[in-house]
Parts: sequence; C-alpha cells; structure tokens
Amino acid sequence: MSVDFNSRAVVGVQGLTPYVPGKPVDELERDLGITSIIKLASNENPLGASPLAQQAALAALNDAGRYPDGNGFALRQKLAVHHAIAADQIVLGNGSNDVLDMVARCFLGPGRNAVFSEYAFAVYPIVTRAVGAGLRIADALPREDSEQPLGHDLESILALIDQNTGVVFVANPNNPTGTWLGAEAIRQFLEAVPPQVVVVLDEAYFEYMSPELRPNSRALLDEFSNLVVTRTFSKVHGLAALRIGYGLTCAQIAGLMNRVRQPFNNNSAALAAAMGSLEDTDHVSRSVELNTSGLLELVDGIQNLGLSVLPSQANFLSIDFGREAQGIFQSLLEAGVIVRPLASYAMPNYLRVTVGTPDENRRFLNSLATVLTQEPA
Ligand SMILES: *Cc1c(COP(=O)(O)O)cnc(C)c1O
Repeated sequence: MSVDFNSRAVVGVQGLTPYVPGKPVDELERDLGITSIIKLASNENPLGASPLAQQAALAALNDAGRYPDGNGFALRQKLAVHHAIAADQIVLGNGSNDVLDMVARCFLGPGRNAVFSEYAFAVYPIVTRAVGAGLRIADALPREDSEQPLGHDLESILALIDQNTGVVFVANPNNPTGTWLGAEAIRQFLEAVPPQVVVVLDEAYFEYMSPELRPNSRALLDEFSNLVVTRTFSKVHGLAALRIGYGLTCAQIAGLMNRVRQPFNNNSAALAAAMGSLEDTDHVSRSVELNTSGLLELVDGIQNLGLSVLPSQANFLSIDFGREAQGIFQSLLEAGVIVRPLASYAMPNYLRVTVGTPDENRRFLNSLATVLTQEPA
C-alpha cells in the first residue's frame, strides 16, 4: 500500500518550492562536455578564501575526529572584539541562512506572519513557510522613475505589519536587485516598527557598500533590541563552501536563537577559517577593490551593449533585457559562462551576473556581445 507522503507533509512544507541554486561548473561540464567554464552565478568572491583562512581550516582537520566547539567560543570572542559587542549577543550559523531559519523558528509559526518585499532574497519565504507562518509581501519600488528600481519600499513594508507580524526581513543591499537603503532610511524605519516585531537586517553584502552609504548597524543594535543584524563569511570572505555566518542582536533574542540552534551547527574547519579570515583585513580590502573596479567595468560594458542594469552596491548586477532572458541564459551556458536566471524571483527579463576577475568580466562581456548578435531581438 503506497502512502502519499506529499499529503502527509505539514501544510507549510507542502507549499514550499526548493531554493534554486546557481548551476555548478561540474554540472555544466557533464551536460555539455565543455571545459574552461566560468561561473558568475552565486555572488562568490573571485579571489576565493584568504590563505590564512585556508591554512587554519586545514590545521583544524587534524582534529576532525572530535566534535567542534558547540559554542564557537573562540570565534565569538573574536567577533565580539571586531564589532565591540558582548559575546552573548552573537549567534553563529551554518551560513547566515541558518541564522534566518533560527529567527523564523523563534518568532514565526501558524497564526503569525513575516513581512518582506517583492524581489527580496529567496530564503525569506522558505524559512517562513516551513514553520507554517503567513507571508505578507510588500510592493517593491517601481521600475521607472525610481532611484532604487525594484528596491525595498519601506513605507509599503511598514503598512503590512499587523498584530500577527513576528518578523520583518530587510536585505541591505538586496539580492537579487543589488539595491540598497541608506542609514537615515533604516533608522526611521526602525523607529516606526512596533518594538515587539523582530527586524532582520540582512547585511550579507555589507562590505561591498560604499562606506558613506553604510548604516551603522552596530550602533542601531544598542537602540533597538528588536533588531537582528546578519552577516556572512560566504561573500567578501570567500568561504561560501564552509557555511558560516552569524547574527548580532540583544542577549535575550540571542539566547532564544541558541535554544533552537542545532548542536554543532558550525564545523571546526569553518570556525577556524572564519578566525583566519578576520585576521586578513588585506584580503577583504583587495576583494572590495577588485569588486568596485569590476562593477564599473561591467556596468559600462553592459550599457554599451544597449542594455540597462539595476543600480548595485553589491558584488553582482541584474541586467534588464527588456524581454524574456532564458534564451540568452542558455546561449551563455553554451559559451561556458554561467550566470543566474531570475525567473524564480518573478524577474524573467533579467539575468544576474556576479563580478568576477578582470579576465572573467571581459569573457562575460564578449560572450554576451556574441550571444546578442546571434539572438533574434
Ligand atoms: C548570499 C546571501 C546570504 C548568505 O548566505 P549564506 O547562508 O551565509 O551563505 C544571505 N542573504 C542574502 C541576501 C544573500 O544574498
């Protein structure tokens, strides 16, 4: 007798669609039998990890037979100094996605809702639905006549908060749009959100923002105890494979999140690599500089092809083709260039490209130029 397990799953899980990751290089090699592929699809650091991080991770493998430090003591101490914050205000995650999931499990559930913007990061609906909570999705800013086209509209987010709202998710800068919110806008927003509603400020791309645009989220934590700031080692630190990120919040919320946190959610190699990477401030600066120049080069090259991009303060650009972009995505794949289609974000006319090395950026622009001449407009 075969059971229909789809109907046995809890309602929230029945409503889920899996996260769509960027296509791995190995998979494209297998699919098309081609080599020398470049992947500009997952907002990874083209310089990879710092050598200090790599050495630390390798050294940690000597102790692979032991469980990791389940409290991440050493890394939390280091982050406490780095952010001038108490160690009991830091929650470590298996990637910052894990931190988002912990927030959802603490503050969302049936009868509660999460509020976030249209075109916001895809993990917010997943962690919300998985715990049976409702979604309230705010209209984004318009595409035309807006300084931040398709960016977060904080007014429309505020208008959706009701007495059942447990969490508001705000990404700054946002993925996949690259749009951002300034310090003053964030402060006014936090002042307007009811104090019992948890606000997650997802700062996965924080280091890539121009210094004069960055909010002082550390100072905001002292003022707003409902704030959870998330950061990751996956992006500018180049440690995406190891899965490590963290949240900064008040000690009480951190304590709640630690109750639902999986024991040993951070492996020893990741903990060690994160420590090493925090030491290598040069690697971070070099990565940011490479991104700043690469972003300019890409914007220029893409506009020269007659296409427009959304403004970005991150390490990627979303390109507007003004028509369905799946065919262009496919043709780029055949040229060995992996970018990210955005149909799963309800942006079928866009492709997202991560800033690569100067060589990768040029290869992408050349391939795109070729593909556009071959594609019927
Ligand atoms: C990449 C990304 C993350 C981080 O994911 P990790 O789990 O830390 O690898 C979080 N938020 C946004 C908006 C992202 O784009």
